[in-house]
Amino acid sequence: MFHISCFMFHVSCFTFYVSGWGFTFHASRFMIMVDLMQKIVSLCKRRGFIFPNSEIYGGFGSGYDFGPLGVELKNNIKQAWHSEMLTGKDNMVGLDSAILMSSKVWQASGHLTAGFADELVECKKCHKRFRLDEIVNFKSQVPRMRSRLPVGLHSKQIPNSKFKIQNFKCPDCGGELTKPRKFNLMMKTFVGPVEDEASATYLRAETCQGIYVNFENIINSMRLKLPFGVAQIGKAFRNEITPGNFIYRTREFEQMEMQWFCSPSASRTTLINADSNADKRGWTPDDWFDYWKNKRMDWYLKLGIRKENLRFREVPEKELAHYAKRAVDIEYKFPFGWKEIEGIHNRGDWDLSNHSKYSNQDLKYEGSYPYIIETSGGADRSLLAFLVDAYQEIKGGRTKTTEAKKEVEVLLKLHRKLAPVKVALLPLVKNKPELVKKAKEVYKLLKPHFLTQYDEVDSIGRRYRRMDEVGCPFAITVDFETLKQEDVTLRDRDTMLQKRVKIKDLPKVLEKKLKE
Ligand code: ATP
Repeated sequence: MFHISCFMFHVSCFTFYVSGWGFTFHASRFMIMVDLMQKIVSLCKRRGFIFPNSEIYGGFGSGYDFGPLGVELKNNIKQAWHSEMLTGKDNMVGLDSAILMSSKVWQASGHLTAGFADELVECKKCHKRFRLDEIVNFKSQVPRMRSRLPVGLHSKQIPNSKFKIQNFKCPDCGGELTKPRKFNLMMKTFVGPVEDEASATYLRAETCQGIYVNFENIINSMRLKLPFGVAQIGKAFRNEITPGNFIYRTREFEQMEMQWFCSPSASRTTLINADSNADKRGWTPDDWFDYWKNKRMDWYLKLGIRKENLRFREVPEKELAHYAKRAVDIEYKFPFGWKEIEGIHNRGDWDLSNHSKYSNQDLKYEGSYPYIIETSGGADRSLLAFLVDAYQEIKGGRTKTTEAKKEVEVLLKLHRKLAPVKVALLPLVKNKPELVKKAKEVYKLLKPHFLTQYDEVDSIGRRYRRMDEVGCPFAITVDFETLKQEDVTLRDRDTMLQKRVKIKDLPKVLEKKLKE
């Protein structure tokens, strides 16, 4: 309920503005999107995907915990990323670096200076702080206010323009706002028993710094030649001022990052052939940028996200992070708008040259500082995109012949690779001991191979719908025929087609189907 009330708060505050200006159309569209998010938030809690953090104490910092099914889904996403980036790949190695590192790392990376700070304004009345771009985006949703924005002005450019913050009011209480100031997003902590500046460090704000500081260890131990990549999944922390939109923006999140080290001076001498490493050696950093950008987009498409809900966004020069020469975001069309789920960055030689400078270690390789092309995705953000994209409601239900026909059925059409539960094992009825015994035998047969859930409570129709709601691709029903013929019905979540399969063939049949 905690999260739902959060959403309600935004609705009422938005409605206030909207009704004030008489734009009911925008309000209703906004309500639909809030409604969809509410449904997803509620499904996630009800069915064990995502719980509000520290809920019994009223919640904590817009944090979330991944429940039993959420853990499986997230692990499947991370596993899919790992096998895409690492498994069987030439010139690609993995790393799992520590969250806590020397604070010098963050001085060298530029994160302790203004490079990693958000522009904030504070309401003089309610003292709530907002990111500057939020204030502008909030107002720009109301057409009459939008006309006050200079044409073509992006919110992040506002401090450099003649634009006046005095023209904006607090979105919560309408109070006057302070001038913007920078606020660092790094989370400070202390290592050891004494809390002084010498023992201070930060929870990492991005996982990639662990890769850069291990650059030499990796090339020495693995004898790699340019170009090569290092891939890592891990937690990152940012003291976001305004976390929100469920798990979209949180203070603790997981990143899936790959750093591709390539020669800055390579000039293309051969035709581009992505499958040949020999050819790739001639690629320029720009070639690699395009290659990885497309690869990453394909990954989301392969895992079932609809094409029309994904797009690239070239990040304008003025919005680039302090380390980036070029950046393209992969954006997903969430109910709350088009938003970044992954960034592809050309970091140039920023990181290796700065770490060389600060550490006095020469991190040049093959004659120069390699350029870095980074693919930086969020496990949590992509999980939300996979969930939203898979969520479907069928008014009146799909089964026209049962009593369910008047209900709204929810179907989570997750890719089979990502589905948290792969198989549901359902005895037709629970009051026939011989059926239950047989169903448990089949359950035991499948459990070591696939994440299987046994369920005997409620009618078979209800149980199918429960499994559809968590995206389980296959349901097996053990019925009276099973006792005579040693076969079961295998139901497909998406087509609802049922066919009989011999019990002994089930592991093979399921394995094949789950790979399709
Ligand atoms: P934003 O502009 O939305 O704050 P960013 O450009 O700062 O994102 P990056 O630094 O490029 O994000 O981080 C790479 C990826 O890490 C993002 O695409 C996103 O998937 C994930 N990520 C970053 N910040 C958060 C966060 N606060 N909560 C969840 N995921 C995040």
